[in-house]
Parts: sequence; C-alpha cells; structure tokens
Amino acid sequence: MTVRLRDLLLGLRDLGLAHAPVIVHSSLKSFGPLEGGPGMVVNALVSVFNAVLVPTFTYKTMVTPLTGPENNAITYGSQPDLNLMAEFFTPRLPADPLMGIIADTLRRHPRALRSTHPIQSFAGVNAAPLINAQTMTDHLAPIGLLERADGWVILMGVDHTVNTSIHYAEKLAGRRGFVRWALTPKGVVECPGFPGCSAGFQAVAPDIDKFTRRVQVGECLIQAVPLKMLFRVVKTLIKQDPQALLCHQTDCERCNAIRAMA
Ligand SMILES: [Zn+2]
Repeated sequence: MTVRLRDLLLGLRDLGLAHAPVIVHSSLKSFGPLEGGPGMVVNALVSVFNAVLVPTFTYKTMVTPLTGPENNAITYGSQPDLNLMAEFFTPRLPADPLMGIIADTLRRHPRALRSTHPIQSFAGVNAAPLINAQTMTDHLAPIGLLERADGWVILMGVDHTVNTSIHYAEKLAGRRGFVRWALTPKGVVECPGFPGCSAGFQAVAPDIDKFTRRVQVGECLIQAVPLKMLFRVVKTLIKQDPQALLCHQTDCERCNAIRAMA
C-alpha cells in the first residue's frame, strides 16, 4: 500500500499531540512506497505540529588537531587525510546523510530557520525561540527549551540510537562531554560539550515504553516520547548505574572514556 498525504496526516494526528512542539528523527525508507517523497512528509509534520525541530548536524566540518586536552576520547593527529577533506561550515551546508533526507528537506523549507553551530546545528519551522537558544557552549539548549515547553520526540522508523535528546539528559545526569573542532570560514573553531556515543541508547526502550505513543503509517512505526519523562528515566538509569546506556563495542573511545570515570 502506497502511503499518501492523507494517511500520514491521520497517523500523525492520532498521536494526539497537535499542539505540542516536537523534535523529529526519521527514515524515509521506513515508510515503504510513499507518494510525494520527503517533501510530503515535511509538509505533514509542519501542518500537524505546533513547532518542528530536526538535527542538521554536519560531521564533515570536523577536523582533528595534532594536540589537545587529555582524556578527550580522540587520537590526536590521526586523521590527516580526513582533515584535508573537511568542509567549511556554512548555513547552506547539507545535513549529514545520517540525519536522513526528511531532516535535510525540512532545512530547505521556505519557512525554516537553521542555527549556526558548525557541527551540531538544528533546523526548524515555527521554532525560532528553540533555534535561537543554541550557543557554542550549550549546543543542546534547543532540546532543554523543548522539554520546558512540554515537547515530544518523534521517532519515524528509527529507534533511540538516534535520539539526540538523550544526550541532553545525560548532561543533566552529570555525564561529561568532549571537545571537538570544526572548520569555518573564520578558521578552526573549538566546540566544547560534544556528546558521547549513542549506540547503546536503545537500552532506554523498556523503561520509557509505558509513556510512548505509537502509530503505524504504511510500513513505518512512528513513536512519540514525552521529553519530561525521557529526561526523568535517563537520569534515574544513570543514577542507578553510571555506565547505563553506554555501548558494548570494546574500541568505542567515548564510551570507554565515560566508563573510566564512572
Ligand atoms: Zn559507544
């Protein structure tokens, strides 16, 4: 069955969040056959929700210096070839393919605004206060503001391993961040507070399950998670076990750095 605009609108409305601001993580492919492509999904999101925020992160701006602070989960001087391929951040730089084509399509919406963090920018429609909340030292501030506005996370065909908001809750739980560097037209910029790895985040699912709303649209499972409860659950998990939500790859530099401190 091909998914049409009407199916998507009905499905999103069934979540019962028409007046909520949301942050959306998505996979276009997860819908199966879809009439209208990513533009149709963006139009549906913008028409159903009060404000729509998406991550438009740009990892190809990142450079690795020869030296830097210790215990930073990075091998200094290890990426000379990648440094040569790094791109300058500009507001028009497309989002990394990992963000999904729906996020990058929303970035190009006529009413979209985008923040200017060279690695971790956000784009949004009807979301100016959220976008403007971001600073270089608090790049996840839009998510904090979204939580205070009773916002929700929408996961369209993706799981918690891409749920950026969990990073904000990790920070609230006292988990450390890292320093990274990005190429900009003004030179290399230091970006503090770079979050840890998210590969282990699906472990939050059983604890947040009873607060999660779900609808099925075509082949896509759409889940909605309230940020207030997500933050509460993540903080509790990390308080109970300082190694909660870390991944199990033995060579994961960021998870190993956090484990060493826990
Ligand atoms: Zn990891």
